Amino acid sequence: MPKHEFQTEVSQLLHLIIHSLYSHKEIFLRELISNANDAIDKFKYATITDDQFKQVTWSPRIDLRFDDTASERSLEIEDNGIGMNQTDLVEHLGTIAKSGTKSFLAGLSGDAKKDSNLIGQFGVGFYSAFMVANRVEVVSRRAGEAEAWKWSSDGKGGYELEPASKDTQGTLIKLYLNEEGNEYANRWQLEQLVKKYSNHIAFPIFLHFEKTEYGKDGAENTKSQAIEQINSASAIWSRSKNDLKDEDYIEFFKSTSHSMDEPLFWLHNKAEGTIQYTSLLFVPKAAPFDLYHANYKPGVKLYVRRVFITDDDKELLPTWLRFVQGVIDSEDLPLNVSREILQQNKIMKTIRTATVKKLISEFSRIASDEKDTWNTFILAFNRPLKEGLYQDFENRDTLAELVRFKSSKIEGLTGFADYQARMQADQKAIYFITGGTENVLRASPLLEAYRKKDIEVLICDDEIDDIVIQGYGKYKDLELKAVNRGDVADELKSETNAKAAKKAAPIINRIKTALGDLVKDVKASSRLLESPACVVTDDTDPTFQMQAMLRQMGRESEMPATKPILELNPNHPLIVGLKDANDETLDDTAHVLLVQSLLLEGAEIPDRVDFVRRLNRLLG
Ligand code: ADP
Repeated sequence: MPKHEFQTEVSQLLHLIIHSLYSHKEIFLRELISNANDAIDKFKYATITDDQFKQVTWSPRIDLRFDDTASERSLEIEDNGIGMNQTDLVEHLGTIAKSGTKSFLAGLSGDAKKDSNLIGQFGVGFYSAFMVANRVEVVSRRAGEAEAWKWSSDGKGGYELEPASKDTQGTLIKLYLNEEGNEYANRWQLEQLVKKYSNHIAFPIFLHFEKTEYGKDGAENTKSQAIEQINSASAIWSRSKNDLKDEDYIEFFKSTSHSMDEPLFWLHNKAEGTIQYTSLLFVPKAAPFDLYHANYKPGVKLYVRRVFITDDDKELLPTWLRFVQGVIDSEDLPLNVSREILQQNKIMKTIRTATVKKLISEFSRIASDEKDTWNTFILAFNRPLKEGLYQDFENRDTLAELVRFKSSKIEGLTGFADYQARMQADQKAIYFITGGTENVLRASPLLEAYRKKDIEVLICDDEIDDIVIQGYGKYKDLELKAVNRGDVADELKSETNAKAAKKAAPIINRIKTALGDLVKDVKASSRLLESPACVVTDDTDPTFQMQAMLRQMGRESEMPATKPILELNPNHPLIVGLKDANDETLDDTAHVLLVQSLLLEGAEIPDRVDFVRRLNRLLG
């Protein structure tokens, strides 16, 4: 029998699942049923869109069978969904197609408890079967094809693939249970697990078991084969909110999202206006592992009148809301709506706009009413909200009330409104600093004068803060001003500063000549107290952070290199002392001051060798 190797990532994931998730081993059933559900969804869609299947009569179902009599107990999960052919089996059960799997696996710690949470966000899926089985066989026949194939593996390195026979389309998964899994070859266990984890799967799940009838005297009488439906098989979102309990929502979320965690909160909404649709949307407790991957998997599935249409449409919600999971079910879209049509479809646009509004208003409500939930939420999703502030023009003012930043004045996070409430009476702008880690920013010489005057500065250590805040520009009528750009805040200007600047003018001019082309300008600064120098950029130039980002993306040629403006502290002894310096010392000091200021800003250094030579000369 041909033996195939697992892709390395599969082996790693298998190892992790088995070693980190064993205390949750029962979720294997939920995962396999969830896959069966997706396979049925896909075939149902094909019966609407694919001519070869339009005529078929077919009732979707999932069947569970077990054998507790053989020496090796076993359990079967069968669906009559889309099925897999040979290529599908190799691709889906021998490799992991998710983007970023490698980096995800590399990021794990080896600590079972921490890792199990992360694997939860990654989604465990099919491979969880190996927690309870010594060997797994998958016999599958793809809809419309005559051949069936059998995939089998002990989950240790590889799998075998061989032709098989199967009367019906779909997939049958047979688990040869290990010691951990023996308990699942049992009617009551299976029934209880299905009720707990998969009750609201929209298709019927049938359990096959041997029924024993007892006689009047209590003695065993007859045995017969019985088949019973054990789930409610209703699409949960189509039911009335009043009939549903929190547990129902939590179970549905877990059974469809491959998540180990409960959701943080959810929104169930039925729109009855001119356009009718239902949405059931979940916000998870933690960011999905692929949140920042370019080809992330969208979390929201589209249904039309309870029929699954797609789980891969990134246009259902704006990208910044990609952490939201769940279902949108429209009454008005045509069933055979194609992806291209979907994107221009007016109904879809209306649903999308309304859904975004609903979500944002729920976020706002939670921000004001539910502190604990909000704290978890903002910790996980502050960054996507910031993306929204940048991208979602229509909702930006509401989003501006939700995004949070660190601050020079308070612990934890704060928003624009709270900043405004704390502002001094004569303050004219909201100040922020970008370009480095929190520690670097907090220690920046640029903040010295602001601190002295007790002016709050937002500490923006998230790399997207720069673009987001500059892009937004103004909060209400308050300008958002970077402390490392352009002219200093009016609040910091004073007569004493002006006098000191005048006195230092000759030194400053000499330094300007010494630095020549390296700088855009050299000025006396009123933002510095303890430090001798700092660099800022001109209002119209891209910031150092922007340049660094473009450099990272290999796009530096798209903009001219920004020249820094060197600001000097006219009261600093080092600067005052330059009065009597000879040309060479002044020249070296000027260069060293420039480079140290650039270093603190995290900016590119023009010439390292030159810097070290000058520094050594000065030290000498
Ligand atoms: P996920 O479901 O998160 O994609 P899995 O590892 O559980 O990951 O499954 C991998 C893929 O295998 C699925 O995406 C699907 O294409 C395929 N698959 C798994 N189970 C079935 C099934 N019962 N019928 C058809 N395809 C399946």
